[in-house]
Amino acid sequence: MEPGSRTTLASARRVIVKVGSALAIDQSSGTIRDSWLEMLARDIARLCVRGQDVVLVSSGAVAIGRHALGLGQRKLLKKDRQAAAAVGQMQLTRAHREIFARHRMTAAQVLLTLDDTTERRRMQNARATLTNLLTFRAIPVLNENDAIATSAASFGDNDHLAASVARLIGSDTLVLLSDVGGLYTADPHGDPDASLIKEVHEITPEIVRMAGGARSDYSAGGMVSKLAAARIAVASGCVTIIADGREAYPLSAIDAGKPCTWFHPSNAARVARKRRIGNTLRPNGVIVVDPAAAMQVRSGNSLCVGGVQSFDGDFSRGDAVIIRDVHGSEFARGLTIWSSAELRCVTRQHKEGARIASGLNRVVDRDDLAFTD
Ligand code: GLU
Repeated sequence: MEPGSRTTLASARRVIVKVGSALAIDQSSGTIRDSWLEMLARDIARLCVRGQDVVLVSSGAVAIGRHALGLGQRKLLKKDRQAAAAVGQMQLTRAHREIFARHRMTAAQVLLTLDDTTERRRMQNARATLTNLLTFRAIPVLNENDAIATSAASFGDNDHLAASVARLIGSDTLVLLSDVGGLYTADPHGDPDASLIKEVHEITPEIVRMAGGARSDYSAGGMVSKLAAARIAVASGCVTIIADGREAYPLSAIDAGKPCTWFHPSNAARVARKRRIGNTLRPNGVIVVDPAAAMQVRSGNSLCVGGVQSFDGDFSRGDAVIIRDVHGSEFARGLTIWSSAELRCVTRQHKEGARIASGLNRVVDRDDLAFTD
């Protein structure tokens, strides 16, 4: 294990969870697997209570719609796939709204096309919408806008979409829930000797070859597309997990250490991410920290609530902020876990000696800090 690699879901700040059609939809009836989705929602609620941001990417529109339109299991013409997606998306959206509401969460549907993550102005707009939703503590539920996406400007599969969004909003963890337990040395359905690879630090040609042998699940993305997604995500410094979603409470299972595959960003990717935080992102606020916290941060630790002396600016969750010492000198920049309104509450709670409601004591995670002096 390389130094600095993260190995728990609990320490993630912003998690993208991608669910494939095979998990979300009962293939024979084309209906939503409510009880499974209910367990996932409960898992997501638990992450939110821990103060973690969660974005859900859910496939399933085409799987529902093809059934509703009587199109069977045959390969669909593009126009029929688009019609199916338009029909199925309505049901998918309604199910998410109802199931999340049962857990007192507000779901927010966002349908994206590839251009929303590649064209500068559209990227800025998509990023602003998603981060604002997270600041409102809503759960963005994403899918590709299949009904209108053209082949040239489409993600093709939601693994790709989820990884692009992870990069877009500075997520530190991408979880791809699948109908296999992770990446195996060979196809686990056909080869009794296939064994699970638990840690990947570099996506080598050997790793790509292993993915090529694995059976695809029902959705557009099989293991090859998961690996391509992992490549995009880790290049932007985001840990990627491929795990078995057929588990009851699949995120709790990862928390409990159930074997799955973790892809770790290389040191170079971590450095590039920090450089982006330090040099590229426009900061929306300033946090002044006391000398003890400045020393902690300089020695590679996260910035904790107790070290915040004052702050200024109107920032959302995940925005870049400048970090200054008590003499007014900037020495670091980082991505804030809290919005300015939340930080006001959290620092007050801390000063009053109250337990921070979400139990999360960090303001900027060490992985999201870059030195600028
Ligand atoms: N966007 C497609 C749907 O909702 C799924 C794409 C995929 O399976 O990756 O049906």
